[in-house]
Amino acid sequence: MARGEFDVAALAAGVAAGDRRALARAITLVESGRADHRAQALDLLARLQVPDSPAAGRQALRLGLSGTPGVGKSTFIESFGLMLTGQGKRVAVLAVDPSSARSGGSILGDKTRMDRLSRDPAAFIRPSPSQAQMGGVARRSREAVALCEAAGFDLVLIETVGVGQSETVVAELCDLFLLLLAPAGGDELQGVKRGIMEMADLILVNKADGDLKPAALRTMADYAGALRLLRRRPQDPEGFPKALCVSALETSGLTPAWDEMQALALWRRETGHWTARRAAQARHWFEEEVRQGLLAALTRDPARARMEALGQAVTEGRLTPEAAAADLLRSLT
Ligand code: GDP
Repeated sequence: MARGEFDVAALAAGVAAGDRRALARAITLVESGRADHRAQALDLLARLQVPDSPAAGRQALRLGLSGTPGVGKSTFIESFGLMLTGQGKRVAVLAVDPSSARSGGSILGDKTRMDRLSRDPAAFIRPSPSQAQMGGVARRSREAVALCEAAGFDLVLIETVGVGQSETVVAELCDLFLLLLAPAGGDELQGVKRGIMEMADLILVNKADGDLKPAALRTMADYAGALRLLRRRPQDPEGFPKALCVSALETSGLTPAWDEMQALALWRRETGHWTARRAAQARHWFEEEVRQGLLAALTRDPARARMEALGQAVTEGRLTPEAAAADLLRSLT
């Protein structure tokens, strides 16, 4: 098979068998911008039956993880991931990195990160796609998550840097959302936006070790207080969302954090919130796909040419912006 070509049947078989190389190739296929690859990607996803229906095979726990650079995300993922693979679980790590859209490189793609986990045969680590559009990155990340799930991973960790927009995307990809924070210097809450707090299921204050421990405990208490002031969400049992302390470096607090995640996941499964969330996410991504498809159509003829002509008419005052827009939209439907 020539470079850049994909044997979809073989890929599907490889992914279903949990083969990591096949999974990596499959993700490359879904990330490709080529139209023929897109068709193959859809074929692959269909063969693997990865829609979000509860009937679709076994489901991984999809964990979103966000935090600003330096807070300890890679250290946490390595420690947490190794703990889970040590318990016989298979762990996949994906990154959603909006900054790659701008820089063309990926801050989450650094090869030296998660060195031990990346050598663990029960783990799969995929750096974020580079040089892709933000909308595209998000949509393809969703397919990458589904592929990891189809490959039999028990846990799919979706990591992002905390820059607002990317959290919203990750929240639409995961079952549980973790926010990683560092101990605050003073006794004020860090500038975490309310919206992000509201998305979090667990706030983990990292670096609760050595000299930083008292500050970590104080920060945890502050956030626990702030969380109690938020409106109780229907998808939460009593006491959630919670704030906990961990030390990724010393691997302490990881077991209690995992216990809380499992307790919350179990509660949501039993009460139907799990399925409802996945269903709502599937709908979100359907609408997003349509939106992106329409935007892409506008960059191609005949819509592009029509847009240009109508734009000219608006500039020259022959048409109002509203009438021209209505005209264009009619031509699309
Ligand atoms: P990321 O940018 O969020 O991925 O953060 P890193 O995992 O690269 O960690 C940034 C820095 O914080 C590194 O120097 C880590 O060694 C340090 N760090 C991470 N976790 C801990 C922790 O639990 N305790 C302490 N004391 N330092 C930590």
